[in-house]
Amino acid sequence: RIPMPVDIYGEQRKNSMGVNFSNEDDIRQLAEEINAHKGPWKAAPLVPGAKIGKETVKVTDPADHRRVVGEWIGGDESVVDTAIGNAVAAQPDWDRVPAEQRAQIAERAAEMIEAKRGEFVAMCVREAGKTLPDAIAEVREAADFCRYYAGMTRKLFGQPEDMPSPTGETNRLFLNGRGVFVCISPWNFPLAIFMGEVMAAVLSGNAVVAKPAEQTSLIGYAAVKLLHEAGVPEKVLQFIPGDGASVGATLTKDPRIAGVAFTGSTETAWAINKTLAARKGPIATLIAETGGQNAMIADSSALPEQLVKDVMASAFGSAGQRCSAARILFIQEDVADRVIEMLAGAIDELKVGDPGLLSTDVGPVIDHEALDGLQKHIDRMNREAKLIRKARLDETVTGHGTFLAPHAFEIPSLDMLEREEFGPILHVVRWKSGELDKVLAQINATGYGLTLGIHSRIDDTIAYVQKHARVGNCYANRNQVGAVVGVQPFGGEGLSGTGFKAGGPHYMLRFATERVLTVNT
Ligand code: NAP
Repeated sequence: RIPMPVDIYGEQRKNSMGVNFSNEDDIRQLAEEINAHKGPWKAAPLVPGAKIGKETVKVTDPADHRRVVGEWIGGDESVVDTAIGNAVAAQPDWDRVPAEQRAQIAERAAEMIEAKRGEFVAMCVREAGKTLPDAIAEVREAADFCRYYAGMTRKLFGQPEDMPSPTGETNRLFLNGRGVFVCISPWNFPLAIFMGEVMAAVLSGNAVVAKPAEQTSLIGYAAVKLLHEAGVPEKVLQFIPGDGASVGATLTKDPRIAGVAFTGSTETAWAINKTLAARKGPIATLIAETGGQNAMIADSSALPEQLVKDVMASAFGSAGQRCSAARILFIQEDVADRVIEMLAGAIDELKVGDPGLLSTDVGPVIDHEALDGLQKHIDRMNREAKLIRKARLDETVTGHGTFLAPHAFEIPSLDMLEREEFGPILHVVRWKSGELDKVLAQINATGYGLTLGIHSRIDDTIAYVQKHARVGNCYANRNQVGAVVGVQPFGGEGLSGTGFKAGGPHYMLRFATERVLTVNT
């Protein structure tokens, strides 16, 4: 593990280790671990006492949809009803379990995630289409969330906070779980985000009913089984796969729930917000981490080689299926031709193919629906914008996977983009010297506020951009993806989310309620 500096709460914590891809022994060991797990995998509701149906949904490999990697059984209204009933009954006892005990469960889970690395990597590659480096990063992040929130559990929930006692009474502030949380997650970080949401909610003293994205139900199921084995009681953490519009909506409209932790699109967050507002019961908390329309700005002082490398990672890494991915590069006119030429050259070098091969840079997109939507946008750009470059697909790619060649287009203005295009498509806009404020105004006008990249060798420019951009995570002279738990707390504002930031010191507070005890001594 990589030793980390002392956290703000004085706690020594270490982030999970990756794999050294230049070391043959490390690669061989990883390959053995992965090859031991070929599936098929299964998933079904984990709800004690519920009547589970028989109908199965087949899961196919995004790299070749003829390959079935597993199947799952979804929940229905009666499963949801039983799950929430179980959760309501189990939560008060769980909330009284000492914070130290809860934290130890999370630390045990982190060890178990690392021990099962091979299986999780195999699942992330075959169910979610992740490349090997991305799959490993996913496993590391899941373990990091467990350890980081374990530390925060001790800090925040370990003992009440003594308040001033000006009148001789003692006053103590306690943090407790709010009740039952519904955790709804996306497919693009099927292990890390799923685990992060669930652990923050559970460790804060809540009971949780988790619904994964349909596309990655198998990984969600494996994660919950692991957490049960680590010591989270089965009624404190339950799992229901199923469609968002039915299972997700049934969960969120239930008057017994106290909150929803959601990560996904802005449109779905609006729908959940509406559902919560229309129901009776406790005023529910909504923690939403949503989409972005993320830009990178480069001025003429930027180092072109570094800039192009970081644009490639930010726009095309993970096939552009990251909420933090760069969708628009604003490049200063003076250097634009040179940078665009270098960018086209770099796109020619991309290896787009089987995510299970170490040589692959870009894997498939998740499914046909995603592919069709992205293709529609490309068709429009082909008509209305100037193509800079389209990548080639590797010759090993069959017509049975959902692969999309990365594209870069030059467009006159950000206004041309209608929505977040969640795939490997970059848009390049030129800007003139003296127009930085205009660029920032366009970015802020999108209403999104997730990530922003700035490439400049002028410190004042970096400071100015950070001060004037309404974004949650601003990265200078590097790529803008891959926030590290406990190091770069992650999350946006405006259309991009509610905060507090995941992997940051305040995140768990949103899952908690405050109680005060005043004693007349
Ligand atoms: P999505 O379509 O919004 O789905 C997210 C989750 O919501 C899924 O589990 C989905 O279920 C469920 N859902 C759909 N409709 C629902 C409803 N009416 N009620 C309750 N739940 C419902 O998003 P996605 O396509 O999975 O993920 C991509 C999006 O997530 C992008 O916009 C990306 O930017 C965003 N994202 C944001 C962050 C962040 O930290 N800010 C991180 C990752 C991803 P089903 O899929 O099963 O229908």
